[in-house]
Amino acid sequence: MARITLNFHHYRHNLELLASKCGDMKKLMVVLKNNAYGHGISQMAPLAAAVGVRYAAVKDCAEGLKIEGLFERVLVLSDLPNSSACGALAFAIHSMESLEAVPSGTVVHLNIDTGMHRNGIFPSELTRAFEVIVRHNLVLEGVFTHFHSADVLGSDYFVQRARFDALKDNVRTLATRLGLPLPLFHACNSAGLLRHNGAFDDDVARVGISSYGYTDMPKLLGAFDLKPVLALWAKRMSTRTLHKGQKVGYAGMFEVPHTMVTSTYDVGYGDGLFRFDGTKEVLLQEGQPLLGRVSMDSFSSEGEADEVCVFSDALSMAQAANTITYEVLTRLSPWLSRVVIGRDE
Ligand SMILES: *Cc1c(COP(=O)(O)O)cnc(C)c1O
Repeated sequence: MARITLNFHHYRHNLELLASKCGDMKKLMVVLKNNAYGHGISQMAPLAAAVGVRYAAVKDCAEGLKIEGLFERVLVLSDLPNSSACGALAFAIHSMESLEAVPSGTVVHLNIDTGMHRNGIFPSELTRAFEVIVRHNLVLEGVFTHFHSADVLGSDYFVQRARFDALKDNVRTLATRLGLPLPLFHACNSAGLLRHNGAFDDDVARVGISSYGYTDMPKLLGAFDLKPVLALWAKRMSTRTLHKGQKVGYAGMFEVPHTMVTSTYDVGYGDGLFRFDGTKEVLLQEGQPLLGRVSMDSFSSEGEADEVCVFSDALSMAQAANTITYEVLTRLSPWLSRVVIGRDE
């Protein structure tokens, strides 16, 4: 059967590199949303906890409830509390409307819109937000923002950074005046943290793609020794010898140029591989081309190896599909079996 392997050594290596950027493993919040970027949240969460990570972020309550016992705090990014079971989770609050709606006692991290313009309250709403927090007895545990262009050469990142730094001062003043404890401040995603130089003076950095071994940053912004954690493997279903002129797969998109041995493997677009349509060359990890179209549950390539590595570096697949590594990874079906390697010592 097809399977995914998850390399614990590589994950630990990436987290250690990121911890060196913010000064402490305890400041990292591993972003495990969307099934840990397709890696498998149940497999990845214990690995992060084993390395000493204290904070995790997830998409919704269901993901949060799966892993809450492993971390000091799990922050739900895109959901609001929907049952009493969610009591131990913290919730990212993206609007005044949500802030008004969450039940008393909810632990909240307030998102501030410093320029992404998708979510978050405006800095001008901060005083009103504090009024609601006090009136509704909410627990303000964090205040954060999100960079829209930390992985792009240009000044936007610095503009947002400066806005957030100014806002931190306002939050400190308001919290002190109201007798509230100071919240945790966080702003950096992977690119924001990797770009960061010098003393790190937020309390937390939220790291997603870099922890899994990738960055989409231009080389000019720095090169980083990240190691891909995930590899996708496919098993051979059958083998045949084909002769010149015979065609492979739907619509016969690949025509055999000379006698060759081909095999069919058990991963297709239903498992999260892209549906490459056979019009351009796409290579597996060891350089063998995919032959013809990708089917829902299979693809073909030359040779008769019992197992082939579809990719152990998602970048080549991302380039072939004209997308980013994030999409290649998050598409991987949750039904594929996932095995952690390197955690026995
Ligand atoms: C997904 C997400 C991140 C992680 O971003 P990466 O680029 O993968 O590091 C950080 N913060 C928030 C709010 C997110 O939604």
